[in-house]
Amino acid sequence: MHGWNWVHSYTGLPRPFFSRVQPAQVPAPRTVFWNQTLATELGLNPDAFPPEEVAAQLSGNRLPPGTDPIAQAYAGHQFGHFTMLGDGRAILLGEHLTPAQHRVDIQLKGSGVTPYSRRGDGKAALGPMLREYLISEAMHALGIPTTRSLAVVATGETIYRETPLPGAILTRIAASHLRVGTFQFAATLDQPESLRALVTYTIHRHFPAAAQADCLALALLENVINRQAELVAQWLAVGFVHGVMNTDNMALSGETIDYGPCAFLDRYHPDAVFSSIDHAGRYAYARQPSIAQWNLARFAETLLPEIDPIPERAIELARTAVETFAPQFQRAWLLRMRAKLGLQIPEAEDQILIQTLLRWMTETGVDFTATFRNLTFHLDSATAQPPDRDFGAWLQSWRARLRRENVPSDQIRQRLHRANPRFTPRNARVEEALAAAHHGDLAPLQRLLRVLARPYDEHPGDEGLAEPPPDGGVGYQTFCGT
Ligand code: AMP
Ligand code: MG
Repeated sequence: MHGWNWVHSYTGLPRPFFSRVQPAQVPAPRTVFWNQTLATELGLNPDAFPPEEVAAQLSGNRLPPGTDPIAQAYAGHQFGHFTMLGDGRAILLGEHLTPAQHRVDIQLKGSGVTPYSRRGDGKAALGPMLREYLISEAMHALGIPTTRSLAVVATGETIYRETPLPGAILTRIAASHLRVGTFQFAATLDQPESLRALVTYTIHRHFPAAAQADCLALALLENVINRQAELVAQWLAVGFVHGVMNTDNMALSGETIDYGPCAFLDRYHPDAVFSSIDHAGRYAYARQPSIAQWNLARFAETLLPEIDPIPERAIELARTAVETFAPQFQRAWLLRMRAKLGLQIPEAEDQILIQTLLRWMTETGVDFTATFRNLTFHLDSATAQPPDRDFGAWLQSWRARLRRENVPSDQIRQRLHRANPRFTPRNARVEEALAAAHHGDLAPLQRLLRVLARPYDEHPGDEGLAEPPPDGGVGYQTFCGT
């Protein structure tokens, strides 16, 4: 018994929302990573999954009984331009019910062409799939909502990008793959009953507490706005830059999804951009909240006919909801940033304290993760010399503020360590590990995975993985993982 517990609710939606497809057969599947911890959490029986079995099932070569593979239809704004998309290289095997009755999507990413592949080959290269596995698992360990990665299986196939590359398939676990783009697709259908079905489906799947609301569409909008405000605040608090916040890459569940060109800040700068194709800095670090709000406005537009039959009223209600994003984000961000400074009792001046630190960090270009983690060294004015006068002055006001928390410094130290990771996936370390994997050596990637599974702990012997790059990581570029 494998422990799979397949159910299929998405296929109950009207026909335009998906197409039935079969994953391509692959020549020589080989398990590269198998996430036993996650498998166990999902209620799968790890003994039933020797590497050959993982390879056979999660390459799509021998699907477990009970699956009903489909590709989902969606649309999206990519860098501001509206396009019809859909799963061009991903196949949803179905939903799996965990022993705790959580419903999760089980998706194979890179398993061949679908009706939505356009000119693509439907395949994925090993490097980007390993990168998604690593970063998504690191995000989860940092406590940030995210899709998870159950396995990476190499296909034994060569795929062609700029150069020939080994092919691979990632098994992605998600609360669902419903996205802003799914609703944008629904809006193009001009079928009121299809849109209504999607609204009802999404509410029941993600926000059952809102199922009794007077207006489901408005309740859905408000809930999604709330989740996104929380999510983006968490990204900023760890220095995460998603890199491709197109509306098709914004999950309604509030999970981080699509780890193509993402990166983590080394040197702090609000305008930091890593993606080679993001020339205008549309998805820069500090622009992520306003882009999220822009995406949510696109989401709101799709819901208008369901919000109110009178367009002016619908627009007014939707606008009011979308405008709550900024204050919700601000509140979530303040909470996270306060925590990063060891503060729990809110004070009116906290915002200034945080902004002053961030301004100093921008001016000096210090490392984001290390600056916050190392605050504990500055708790006592006698023990560490501040690097400059501005920081010294800031430390003084911070210490005065900490005294008003009225707790012993040991407790502050603990708070700081819980809110500030020692380890994030340093871009250079990730690249090194992927380069080694490309040459057949998985050890560096395994080491990173092990350390990043407990990012708030010290890992004696692995301190190097926390070391900021000597040049601040300036000039680091990422490329879309296609
Ligand atoms: P992404 O940048 O991963 O969010 O992908 C954007 C769109 O391009 C999605 O509809 C993908 O399914 C599609 N896509 C990406 N790579 C491929 C590929 N190799 N073959 C077919 N479709 C692809
Ligand atoms: Mg995508």
